[in-house]
Amino acid sequence: MKKLILFDIDNTLSVASKAHMEAFSLAMKDVYGIEGSVWDVKYYGKTDWQIIMEALKEKGIPGKRIRSGLKECMKRMVEYYSKMAGNDKIVLMDGVKELLKGLEGHGILMGLVTGNLEEIAWAKMERLGIRRYFKAGGFGSDDKSRAKLVRIAIRRMEKHFGHIPRENIFVIGDTPLDVKAGREAGIKTIAVATGVYAKDELMSGEGGGADFALENLKDTAAVLEIVL
Ligand SMILES: [Mg+2]
Repeated sequence: MKKLILFDIDNTLSVASKAHMEAFSLAMKDVYGIEGSVWDVKYYGKTDWQIIMEALKEKGIPGKRIRSGLKECMKRMVEYYSKMAGNDKIVLMDGVKELLKGLEGHGILMGLVTGNLEEIAWAKMERLGIRRYFKAGGFGSDDKSRAKLVRIAIRRMEKHFGHIPRENIFVIGDTPLDVKAGREAGIKTIAVATGVYAKDELMSGEGGGADFALENLKDTAAVLEIVL
């Protein structure tokens, strides 16, 4: 039976990337002339598109001007990230390598659902040495709504593998927004407390919380048990 797991990247597969955060600030400065940063908004679990819009709004930039520069801003972000990626110290979370291998061994399909712009997401996967596990995904450059990214990721995975029953699809992420997006897309949710949210917060969030919660991804058997 076909099963699919959709992984979030930041604070789920890997630690957050400093180069990625710097790329936001540099691109916003170029395009809008402001000193903005991801820290201006509560950015955890949000899409890059959404973070740019909220950070600029916070700085008083009118909506029309935000929208007109958005494409250019995302393009510059990718360029800045590519330049800095070589020195970016991102590392995998503990247990991730073993987990991906274990899931692959059981024939479980894997994809991405991340707020990262697509090129940045794939660059991180390359750099972390786990690119080959993921066939497709939904990315922060596809839409500003994370729930839509889940649906986009499923659609792209199904293009490669055919129909996958929704009850066989899981999303793994570290924030209540990952959980909310998974619920809205009608799939199962696994929360992992390797970001800023604790397990009980993830289990009791708005809308009912995650179906499953784990402290981290170190225990491959525990994840397999949930999925199989
Ligand atoms: Mg995350």
